Parts: sequence; C-alpha cells; structure tokens
Amino acid sequence: MPGRSETKEGGLSEVIIVGGGPAGLTAAVYTARALLDPVVLEGELGPFGQQPGGQLMLTTEVENYPGFPEGILGPDLIGRFRTQAERFGAKLVGAAATAINLQKHPFEVQTADSIYYARALILAMGASPKRLGVPGESEYMGMGVSTCATCDGAFFRNRKVAVIGGGDSAMEEALFLTRFADKVTVIHRRDALRASKIMQERAFANPKIEFVWNSKVLEIMGEQVATGVRLENVKTGKVTEIPFDGIFVAIGHAPNTDLVKGQLELDELGYIKTRDFTRTSVEGVFAAGDAADRRYRQAVTAAGLGCMAAIDASRWLDENPVIEPEDKNADTSRDRK
Ligand code: NAP
Repeated sequence: MPGRSETKEGGLSEVIIVGGGPAGLTAAVYTARALLDPVVLEGELGPFGQQPGGQLMLTTEVENYPGFPEGILGPDLIGRFRTQAERFGAKLVGAAATAINLQKHPFEVQTADSIYYARALILAMGASPKRLGVPGESEYMGMGVSTCATCDGAFFRNRKVAVIGGGDSAMEEALFLTRFADKVTVIHRRDALRASKIMQERAFANPKIEFVWNSKVLEIMGEQVATGVRLENVKTGKVTEIPFDGIFVAIGHAPNTDLVKGQLELDELGYIKTRDFTRTSVEGVFAAGDAADRRYRQAVTAAGLGCMAAIDASRWLDENPVIEPEDKNADTSRDRK
C-alpha cells in the first residue's frame, strides 16, 4: 500500500513489465520506443534456477537465434537485449515481483522493498525447471543434484553424472557435461527421445554419453550428498540402483505464474491463457513468452510475443486514456515517477 513505512514507492508507470528474459526485454524495447517509460522487473536469483534474464542465462551457445549465424552465448544475447532496452529509456530494476494485484487499477506490483503501480502490465515471467518430485531430490538439491549444467557442471570434472530427461534441454545438458565428466548417462522414461533430430544426433555421436531407456527415477539416494539413483524399468518393473556423483534434472519447465493464480485465467498446466494474441482475461494485462506459451518456448518466439504484447499494450493505453483508481489513496499523477 502507498505510504507503508517499510515500502518504498516505485511510482506509477504507464507499463510495468514483469520478467527480464527475451519476452520482457523485447517488450521493453518496443514500449520504450513508444515513449511509455516502461519499468522492467528483471527478477533475481532463486534457489531453483530462477534467473534475472531467464533461461538464456543458463544456456551456453544459442545457435538458432536469427541474426547470429555463428551463434551467441545466452548471457551475451540477454546483455544485448538489455543494452537495447536501456538505450530507449526502459528502466531495468534488478528485483523480482513478490506480489501482483490485478484487482486494483492502477495494477499493483510489489518487490521485496518497493511497490509499483501501472496502468498496463505485461507479464513475461517465463518458466522454471520442473522437478521430479521424488524422495531425495529436494534434500540433495545443490549437493549433487542440479537443474543447471552450465552452473554446476565444472564441479564434476572426471566424475560420473546422470541427466534425467529426453528433450532438447536434457541433450544440451548432457553434451555440455561431457566437457567435464568422464561419463554422462542420460536416463529417459521412454525408448525414444523428444529432442530435436540435430541434438539427438550429437548426443548419440558423443562417445562419453550413454543411455538408459524406459526408466523412471524412484529416488535420489544419498548420504549428505547425492550418491546415485534408484530406477524402475517401466517395461519390466525391475528396480536397479546406479551410483552417480552428480544428477542433473532436465525434464522441462513450468510457467512462473503463481503470483497471478486465481486473478486471471490460466490453463490446466498453469500457462496464462491469451486471446486476440497477447490479451489476458484481465483488461490491460498482456502476456508474452514462456509464461503464456506452452507450444513453442523458443527465445525467438518469446521475443516476438514480447513485441506483440508491447504493441497491444500501447494500443490499449491509447484506447483507454485514464481510468480513475479505486483506491483514493493511490496518486496516479505521472510526476510521481
Ligand atoms: P521438453 O521438450 O518438454 O522435454 C522434457 C523431457 O523430460 C521429455 O523427454 C519428457 O519425457 C521428460 N520428462 C518430463 N517430465 C518428466 C518426469 N516427471 N520424469 C521423467 N521425465 C520427464 O522440455 P525441454 O527439453 O526443456 O525443452 C523445452 C523447449 O525448449 C522445447 O521446445 C525445446 O525445443 C526448447 N529447447 C531448445 C534447445 C535448443 O534448441 N538447443 C535447448 C533447450 C530447449 P517424454 O518425452 O516422455 O514426455
């Protein structure tokens, strides 16, 4: 609430963008160029792979972002997005939203120490690594269990590691880990990978990578640190235990939409439902990137959706010039910024 002694005023903006990945930062470039003075809450480091800059901060080489024929490192690409957004006047704030109130207008967005108000919101909170939900996983997270090979791979030099999953993320993690580990075992619950053909071919061709098929992880075993996995073969029912020094969980991502749950329409997996491109079920709230996209989930599609959300938000602001705040204490004058 405005006037709370412990909470700093972030001010009223035309647009607040929640999330600093490709979607949020592209929305920032477009809304800044539309002179809407966007504020971007970029997020902060979290215990389960949350990152300012989003998932690209955890990848190495991005080979499929158009315009970079030689590839570009994920963090470098995010750095370029940030520079471009700031060049046009976007205000980038290195904080995560901790609460969002869509029932009020102007909308309220809180961070750990500030409260911001905005006439329009662009939700681009992205997605975070999914977890297996088996015994031992939480207990040994950071103690031999990881969701990020680029962050933790170097700890496993000359060791034996497992990667759980069969998608592009799992192949990328496995390939990256071969730089350090002696052996990388991909454990997948089916007998065919979901990963793209090119990633499959690279993984199959790498002599350090081997596969355990049709196997579900029952438990991550350990003693102070993770020591291995207990697996069940889903075809035969046979249970085996395999020792590993490190276990990397790479089974996809879930949208970071907890803050808006119950306030706008989400689908059954928690992705923000959009209609008419980037509009959500709440007027003045737009969504872009992996928080709203369960199908494509690419950096370039996130950026495209960010652009679309920015244009949609800008038009919506033009069509809805001023809405008086319900909360009479909220000062909506622009000079509060
Ligand atoms: P994904 O494509 O959804 O793959 C997730 C994998 O984990 C699947 O193989 C799935 O098994 C498995 N899995 C899911 N839940 C599981 C569970 N509870 N226990 C065991 N296994 C489980 O996710 P992703 O690999 O993170 O990729 C997401 C998107 O990002 C994709 O569109 C991908 O193309 C893209 N991406 C691209 C690149 C690249 O181009 N270099 C890199 C990373 C990601 P099933 O196959 O049986 O469902």
